Amino acid sequence: MFEKVLVANRGEIAVRIIRACKELNIRTVAVYSEADINSMHVQMADEAICIGKGPSGDSYLRIDRIISAAEIADVDAIHPGYGFLSENSHFADVCESCNIRFIGPSSQAMNALENKATSRALAKKAGVPIPPGSDGIVENEQLALTTARRIGYPVMIKAIAGGGGRGMRAAHNDISLVKGFHTARTEAEKSFGNSGVYIEKFIESPHHIEFQILGDGRGNIIHLGERDCSIQRRNQKILEETPSPLIENRFKDLRKKMGKAAIRIAEVARYTNAGTVEFIVDEKGSFYFLEVNKRIQVEHPITEEVTGIDLVKQQILIAMGEPLRISQGDVQFKGHAIECRINAEDPFDDFRPSPGRIEMYFAPGGRGVRVDSHAYAGYTIPPNYDSMIGKLITYGKDRREAMDKMSRALGEYMITGIKTTIPFEQAILQDPNFRRGTYSTNFIEQLLGGARRELIEEKS
Ligand code: ADP
Ligand code: ADP
Ligand code: MG
Repeated sequence: MFEKVLVANRGEIAVRIIRACKELNIRTVAVYSEADINSMHVQMADEAICIGKGPSGDSYLRIDRIISAAEIADVDAIHPGYGFLSENSHFADVCESCNIRFIGPSSQAMNALENKATSRALAKKAGVPIPPGSDGIVENEQLALTTARRIGYPVMIKAIAGGGGRGMRAAHNDISLVKGFHTARTEAEKSFGNSGVYIEKFIESPHHIEFQILGDGRGNIIHLGERDCSIQRRNQKILEETPSPLIENRFKDLRKKMGKAAIRIAEVARYTNAGTVEFIVDEKGSFYFLEVNKRIQVEHPITEEVTGIDLVKQQILIAMGEPLRISQGDVQFKGHAIECRINAEDPFDDFRPSPGRIEMYFAPGGRGVRVDSHAYAGYTIPPNYDSMIGKLITYGKDRREAMDKMSRALGEYMITGIKTTIPFEQAILQDPNFRRGTYSTNFIEQLLGGARRELIEEKS
C-alpha cells in the first residue's frame, strides 16, 4: 500500500486526488506555485511544498523541482492529474528511475501513443477506423496538397502534439490549405515545441464520443462506457453527458462496437491505468478514432456517477500493482449524469478570462448534485492557469431528471466578484435541441448565433 502520494497538479483535480487518497488512508503532499499559496489543494494536503513562481514553466512543469519535493517528502508515488506533466513519458521515466511510482500509464504505453500521428498509425494497426488522411507527418506543401486532393476537401490540418482544442484548422480549398499549412506549423512550433502537422478529413456535424478504459498491466482491460462531449466551443468541451443521446436514440449498437474498438487500441498499446479513447461519429453512425488521452480526464466524474466506480482510486490501486477486481460483465450503467464546466470567463464578452477575487460563494447541493471545485469565498483566482474553477455534476434516474437537476443546481450556484460561464451553461440547458438530445459539435456555434443576443439582453 502507498503511504504517501505527491500530487503534481493544482486546482480542482488536485483536490479530487487528495480526496481519493484520504479515503484510502494515504497521506498527501501538495506542490504549489507562489501564485497558488492560498489554493485549496495546499490547505487540504497533509504537507505542501512551494516549487517556484506563478508561470507553470517555473513550477508545475519543473520536473527537477517536483522530484526534489517528492524526495524530500519521501513519497511512494506521484499523481500527475491532467494537463501539465500528465502525458510526459520522460517525467514518468524519471519518477520510476527515482523509485517513485508514476500513477498513470507505463512509459512504453505513452510512447506507443506519443502523439496524434503515432496514435493514428496504432489505430490503423489495431483495425480501428481512422478519418481518411495522411500517413504520418506532412513535411511539405506539395505533400499537403496531394493529400488534401486525394481525400477531398474540407480537411483538418492538425498539430501532432496539439491538445486542449488548440493546434488545428480547417481548410476548404487549395488556397486555404497552403496558407493553413504554414501557419499551423508555425503555431504548433510556438505552442507545443513541435512543428509536426498531419492532415485528416474534416468530418461534418460530428459527435465527439469517447470511451473510458482501465487496464491493470496484467492483461485485464475493460471499458466503462461512453461520454458524449459534443457540446464544445472552439473544440473545447463545455458540457459532457453519459449515456450519449446519439447512441441511446439512434445507434444503440455503437456502444458495443466502439467499446470493443477502444479496448483493441488499449490492447495494442499495452495500455495500463486509466485512459480515454476519443472518437468522432458522423451523422450516419460511422465512427473514427481521434486520439487517446493518457490520463484522468476532466469529465471523469460522470462515468463515476453512472457506474459507481471511483476512477481515481482505481488509478491508485492499479499503480500499486493491484489486479483489476472488476470484469467487463461487472460494469453496470445506471441512470444519467451531466457535467457542466464552470469557467471564470465572461460569456457576455467573448469568454474573456475573468480572474480575480471571489466575494461570495455558495455551491449547490441536494440529492444527485456533486461539485468538484477548489473555489471558496475570498479565494483569488490567479491569471496564470486555465480558467476552469469547478465542475457541477448532476445524476438522475434518466436524462430528463439529470437535466432538471442541472438547471436547478446552476440556478443555486452563487459566485460573485468574478464572471463565470454559469449563465451560458443555463442557456444550453434551456435549448430545445439540447433537451431533445439532437446536437452535434456545431451546437454552440448555432446557439451563439441566437441565444447570445438573449443573454446580452438579459444582462442589460
Ligand atoms: P479533457 O478531455 O480532459 O477535457 P482537455 O484536452 O480539455 O482534456 O485538456 C485538459 C487539460 O489539459 C486542460 O487544462 C488543457 O489545457 C490541458 N492540455 C491538454 N493537452 C495539452 C497540451 N498538448 N498542451 C498543453 N495543455 C494541454
Ligand atoms: P485535442 O487534442 O485538442 O483534444 P482532438 O483531436 O481530440 O484534439 O479534437 C478535438 C475536437 O476537435 C474534437 O472533439 C472535434 O470536435 C474536433 N475535431 C477534431 N478532428 C476533427 C475532424 N477530423 N473533423 C471534425 N472535427 C474534428
Ligand atoms: Mg481530444
